[in-house]
Amino acid sequence: MITFDMLTIFPEIFTSYFQESIINRAQKKKLIKINTHNLRDYAKPGNRHRQVDDRPYGGGPGMILMVEPIAKALQKIKKAKKQKSRIIMLTPAGKQFDQKMAERLSSYDQIILLCGRYEGFDARVEKLVDEKISIGPYVLSGGELPAMILTEAVARHIPGVVGHPDALVEETFSKGRDYVEYPQYTRPEKFKGQKVPKVLLSGNHAEIGKWRQNKSKKR
Ligand code: SAM
Repeated sequence: MITFDMLTIFPEIFTSYFQESIINRAQKKKLIKINTHNLRDYAKPGNRHRQVDDRPYGGGPGMILMVEPIAKALQKIKKAKKQKSRIIMLTPAGKQFDQKMAERLSSYDQIILLCGRYEGFDARVEKLVDEKISIGPYVLSGGELPAMILTEAVARHIPGVVGHPDALVEETFSKGRDYVEYPQYTRPEKFKGQKVPKVLLSGNHAEIGKWRQNKSKKR
């Protein structure tokens, strides 16, 4: 079982998505566990506003997430040393996430995801993390969506999470970055003049296999 720990100032963002479909079933089957932690719970004691961000030294727009609450939270969240744990900072400046990384991360017992907000993290947070990951070359307003994407992509590699294990075998990217799954069809056989390729209706599995191989390469 992998435990995913989200460190965020918006823990409620995760509730709806993780209560549905595959991810919900995976939690019920105890294949994964998802915890959300409110970073504000680690603000300086006595701070009325539970402040976890401040203005950048040297000036500039926006606010920066402070290192102290994050360090305190990580100390509490990180499991005992014998567990294989990975602390990940979500940042557009990180290494771009892909299927290979998702597979690699699925071998950990615990994945801690730091979700940034505002102008991001105090640079000293980098020393507290094992790696920095970006989900793509664009900037979002927070790390919560990236954390959900990473969690789902990693979880799909845990045996039992995806209903039919064969679904992963031919899936896009399963054989490398350039691999794209073959086209699939379901009823009706004819839609606005477009017909389902005859071979798929033939029942000849050897021919269907060849056709699919050919089509996935071509795409
Ligand atoms: N000022 C930061 C910069 O230029 O790199 C961007 C901060 S962004 C507005 C706020 C937070 O959203 C980031 O700290 C990060 O956690 C998250 N975020 C935004 N885009 C992301 C991406 N492509 N991948 C991962 N996290 C991202």
